[in-house]
Amino acid sequence: MTVLVAGGGIGGLAMALTCQQIGVDVKVFESAAELRPLGVGINLQPNAVRELYDLGLGDKLPTVGIETTEWALVGKNGNDIWSEPRGIGAGYNWPQFSVHRGKLQMMLYNAFVERAGHTAVLTDHRLTDYENRHDGVKATFTRRNGSRIDIDGDLLIGADGLHSATRAKMYPDEGAPIWGGAVVWRGTTQARPIRSGACFTLVGTLEQRFVHYPITPVDPDTGLQTQNWLTELTFDPNQGWSSSDWNRRADVSKFIDEFADWDFDWLNVPEITRAAAEIFEYPMVDRDPVDAWVDRNVALMGDAAHVMYPVGSNGGSQAIVDARVIGAKFLEHGVTDNALSAYEDQLRADVSALVLRNRGAGPIAILGVVEERCGGIFDDINDVIPLAEIEAFMANYKAAAGFAIDALNAAPPIITPGSRVS
Ligand SMILES: Cc1cc2nc3c(=O)[nH]c(=O)nc-3n(C[C@H](O)[C@H](O)[C@H](O)COP(=O)(O)OP(=O)(O)OC[C@H]3O[C@@H](n4cnc5c(N)ncnc54)[C@H](O)[C@@H]3O)c2cc1C
Repeated sequence: MTVLVAGGGIGGLAMALTCQQIGVDVKVFESAAELRPLGVGINLQPNAVRELYDLGLGDKLPTVGIETTEWALVGKNGNDIWSEPRGIGAGYNWPQFSVHRGKLQMMLYNAFVERAGHTAVLTDHRLTDYENRHDGVKATFTRRNGSRIDIDGDLLIGADGLHSATRAKMYPDEGAPIWGGAVVWRGTTQARPIRSGACFTLVGTLEQRFVHYPITPVDPDTGLQTQNWLTELTFDPNQGWSSSDWNRRADVSKFIDEFADWDFDWLNVPEITRAAAEIFEYPMVDRDPVDAWVDRNVALMGDAAHVMYPVGSNGGSQAIVDARVIGAKFLEHGVTDNALSAYEDQLRADVSALVLRNRGAGPIAILGVVEERCGGIFDDINDVIPLAEIEAFMANYKAAAGFAIDALNAAPPIITPGSRVS
């Protein structure tokens, strides 16, 4: 009864920790030669934080990020459109966290090897093929030295991200991810806190925006904190984009002219972005939803199943929830293809709808309404759009993304504590 997991990212490691917790033998195969804390900030919504608590990792979260207590949408003239409390202050039983993606990955990795042993993760193992067999699956991995290794398991979980080889095997004609015209430049800067010092802030329009959130507490000695930010510009998608690599470096000259006058009395975009230690360029890509995430004994999860625009901050969160739902189905159906089908039946339709909703700007679609009604320039947002309209829109998005406050608080745990696969 062995589950093979291709990919040691956020989703794959959450899957491995879940299997270990419920007594399922699991091995993780990661293509990178070693795990390193790559990436910048990501947000974990309360539905995912709840699952990390249930994995016994709640006390580790403050070591990789901070609790997000506020979420604000701001017009291109620096005036507030909407702000709301987040996490515990909003009424959730669990906080929202803004974390460093790489530190989160290393935290999950360290927790897993502590619990399952170092031999449960094999690096330098790139999944290159799989074959369903009547009683399981054969997965083929290729190493940097060119050698190929076949490994048998009961099930294979493809948690191999945006350029998933598992998905490519299921959908050989799918091709590259789809680029819709937006490019983001991401970085982190040491700076003094803005707003509450724990706010996710999004400023601008649908075509040009700046996103900002801190991922460390304020250092009492310096008064500074690490702030994650991204700038985004939109181009003609027909011009094409060369690469969708999370680690492609760029510099501030690529976007700074467009943000030169984004200096408000409480936020200075040129100053924050110029002070970044390093900047990464990434085209906003996603993939069309597919008709199946499961090919008998093989299932896709996380970005491999449903890569989406990060406008709703739910890619990492959904990967964690996927892992927990697969674990719950193992408890219900055993480590079988029926469990994989049950996972797909529960999540695929809703998450596919979320992919398309995020392609259409997700929770920030309100910016389009503001632009349409007043050209984005206003003194008091009440003159442009009734706050009740924004409130209803936000509540609707949270429900679609699986973190509506009352529903999440009332829901039983996905995995009942102490459950083991018999
Ligand atoms: C290096 C990196 C940096 C990132 N930085 C950010 C960021 O700054 N902000 C943000 O919002 N999101 C970032 N992401 C994406 C984010 O982590 C995911 O959108 C989200 O967490 C969903 O997680 P996932 O496990 O499905 O995918 P990922 O976290 O992308 O993990 C996929 C894993 O699979 C491995 N892999 C790929 N192909 C194979 C293969 N054939 N065989 C075995 N292993 C394979 C990858 O090396 C990676 O470790 C980054 C992803 C990566 C890989």
